[in-house]
Amino acid sequence: MRMSLKGKFSLFIAALLICTIGLLSGFILKGVSGYQREQLEQEMAKRTEAAAARITQQYVTGTRVDSRTFIQLQGPNLAMELGATTGIRVTLYDNDGLKSGDSMPMAADVNAADALQLALRNNIAYVTEGDTLDYFAPLQGPDELIGVIHFQTSLSAQHAFYRHIVILLLVVGLSVLAVGLAIGLFYMNRQASAITKLKLSTDRIRQGDFLHNADLQRYDELGELSQGIDAMRLSIHLNVEALHKEKANMFSALQRLQLLEQQQKQFIGNVSHELKTPLTTIKAYAELLFLYKDDPALIQDSSEIIIKESDRLHDMLENILRLSAMEKYEFNHQPERVDLKFLLADISTRMKGKADKLGLTLLTDLQPANVWADRESLVHIFVNLLDNALKYNRPKGSVTISTRIVGEAVEIAFCDTGVGIPLELRSRIFEPFYTVNRDRARQSGGSGLGLALVKQFVDKQNGTITVRDNGKFGTCFVVTLPLA
Ligand code: ADP
Repeated sequence: MRMSLKGKFSLFIAALLICTIGLLSGFILKGVSGYQREQLEQEMAKRTEAAAARITQQYVTGTRVDSRTFIQLQGPNLAMELGATTGIRVTLYDNDGLKSGDSMPMAADVNAADALQLALRNNIAYVTEGDTLDYFAPLQGPDELIGVIHFQTSLSAQHAFYRHIVILLLVVGLSVLAVGLAIGLFYMNRQASAITKLKLSTDRIRQGDFLHNADLQRYDELGELSQGIDAMRLSIHLNVEALHKEKANMFSALQRLQLLEQQQKQFIGNVSHELKTPLTTIKAYAELLFLYKDDPALIQDSSEIIIKESDRLHDMLENILRLSAMEKYEFNHQPERVDLKFLLADISTRMKGKADKLGLTLLTDLQPANVWADRESLVHIFVNLLDNALKYNRPKGSVTISTRIVGEAVEIAFCDTGVGIPLELRSRIFEPFYTVNRDRARQSGGSGLGLALVKQFVDKQNGTITVRDNGKFGTCFVVTLPLA
């Protein structure tokens, strides 16, 4: 059966108080009754002594007779006299136990033969019955026992006093019990509410609520327990948070792995498909060469096509290898201080021939800017972007390379007046093998790997790449790099 701490403590206090008060009352009452008895015995002994002195004096000074005759003759008078002086009933017996005088002759005889016999054998004996005490004492004469004196007195005063003490003890005992219980309950209430607070705190922790403090401002064991619970709550909270974080990390890692797996599958599919096309062309033209060995025009055309497709195949394979190496392994990165204005001017000069060939104008608007990056990677990024700007341009179009300092970074823009890229496809052009117009890409020898590689290189240089419109026609690719 479940019993609350408060109930147990109250029971304990009640039992303790009842035992203490009971024991104390027992001792007090025993003391009181012992004291009363002692007082009574002393008083009766004094009375006996005084009566014996009076009787002996009478016996010695009166006519010389034997003690039995003396008591038989003088008993009634002496009993009356002693009764008058003591104020209580006095009865005298001779040494055979026969009544010889009574201060209250009309009163009923007392039946206390045993006590009388004891007194006749020279002992003091008394009997109490209700509120009455019958006290028997031997009367010793000069030579022998004269007789026995019997006092009868009332004990009502002593009994009343005793009862009074009992009532007093009862009242005091009950009051102490009530006050003790009240104080105990009040004290226990406070302890119990502190314990309840701690229990609530542990309940909250069990339910996963780690934000509430037990907040028990006490400087005792309960206060220490509260601090312990708080410390435990905090450490569980931290552990649980760490676990959640770990779980979230694992989950996102798993998602990334799944995505990667999917991308890899797609990549392999694309690679096989893209490799097949130039190979099929090469095979077809090789077969034509085999069949028509004597046709110089066909030999010329086929050889050109075979060389072009082989170059494309070679470039594609190189790009594929580079891309997969960049995804799998740590890039061999050798950063250095690069003067962007100088590098871009140099690239533009080198590409000018191709621009002229395509009938395009190449313009530059370069500001001085230095970056801390891998030079080879920058060359790869810029050449690719410039090449695309030339490839996907319109006849008599132009390409502008410009730089602009924005805060702690430099923006390098390659803007063309070309075909443009539809807004909804801009997020996909950085995927490997993605081309907006497959035929046009193939015509210009592209395979959709250039921008995927550019994006990887830019990421490794801690930069970003974005695409936007270039006015009405054309596209701008903007690379942002942190300044050195
Ligand atoms: P590709 O080798 O085909 O040029 P890229 O990865 O460099 O492959 O480019 C992906 C696709 O993005 C191209 O096929 C082309 O359709 C589009 N693209 C890239 N640059 C431009 C540009 N400057 N203007 C218009 N379209 C572009």
